[in-house]
Amino acid sequence: SGYHRVLEENRKLYNEVQDLKGNIRVYCRVRPFLPGNDGNITIINPSKNGKEGHKSFTFNKVFGPSATQEEIYSDTQPLIRSVLDGFNVCIFAYGQTGSGKTYTMTGPRDITEQSQGVNYRALSDLFQLSERRKDTITYHIAVQMIEIYNEQVRDLLVSDGIRNSSQKGLNVPNASLVPVSSTSEVIELMNIGQRNRAVGATALNDRSSRSHSCLTVHVQGREVASGAVLRGCMHLVDLAGSERVLKSEVTGERMKEAQHINRSLSALGDVIAALAQKNSHVPYRNSKLTQLLQDSLTLMFVHVSPEQDAAGETISTLKFAERVSSVELGAARLNK
Ligand code: ADP
Repeated sequence: SGYHRVLEENRKLYNEVQDLKGNIRVYCRVRPFLPGNDGNITIINPSKNGKEGHKSFTFNKVFGPSATQEEIYSDTQPLIRSVLDGFNVCIFAYGQTGSGKTYTMTGPRDITEQSQGVNYRALSDLFQLSERRKDTITYHIAVQMIEIYNEQVRDLLVSDGIRNSSQKGLNVPNASLVPVSSTSEVIELMNIGQRNRAVGATALNDRSSRSHSCLTVHVQGREVASGAVLRGCMHLVDLAGSERVLKSEVTGERMKEAQHINRSLSALGDVIAALAQKNSHVPYRNSKLTQLLQDSLTLMFVHVSPEQDAAGETISTLKFAERVSSVELGAARLNK
């Protein structure tokens, strides 16, 4: 069929995607020192082992402080493109607050074309590729933006005149699903989402470190020749800060938030542990976050800060990441 011709044409791409099946890929990114804070960062090549007394960690890829947004994206691209072939894809940004999660997923505060993060690049790439395939498959792309805060899902696209769409998303049934057909529309929506996220927050940074935000991209393709339909879905998740909240002195409302953040992140840990032990029961439904993981090709971007005083968190982040990379997921299915 035409659909299979397209897959054939993308054989190399597709093979790469197949390699990704069954495992959670883990990419580690070390952010540079911020201005006014200097030091050295050493990333050890896997062929030479760590010095004695040093603990070394191995991941699918490690990006040092000079890695550009473009480099980060080009290693993510095959996975992202597989959504157009009908796979579900899940990309998480994990790490302590300030380690660069938002930088990777969205970009710095004042975004330029060069500094655009994975979210923007993914969408513009999907538009370009779907345009190239349009004689064989016509695609419809729609996005949702949600925030998970205290285990409650908030729709980030509801105000500012945006109507609820009649279509419903799979995983977050009540969030508005907005059809998009160009990168500029996406940029506009992301700005709206950012503004809505800030509503009610005392300080945006504060808030974003305590909630998970998720951009979901729904793709529907119809094969021109046969009318056959395929569906793919991609979650791009900027997780709450992974720092051990318990050690900070939090009380009241803050404590509740802390427990919820921990619940989602520890539910993620439980799912990963169950998968690693190949348990027959995997507790996906224990949190909003882990429901996303089911049946997806998954990539986790693990972020670490280079500063000495972050070392404790860095070690626990890397240990968590090591556990994640040992996990085998069930092979993702094509949604045809
Ligand atoms: P998080 O989302 O993990 O809390 P941020 O993405 O907000 O962290 O990053 C914290 C600060 O570091 C921001 O000022 C951000 O612009 C900067 N930063 C993070 N990663 C990089 C990077 N790779 N290159 C340059 N600056 C970065």
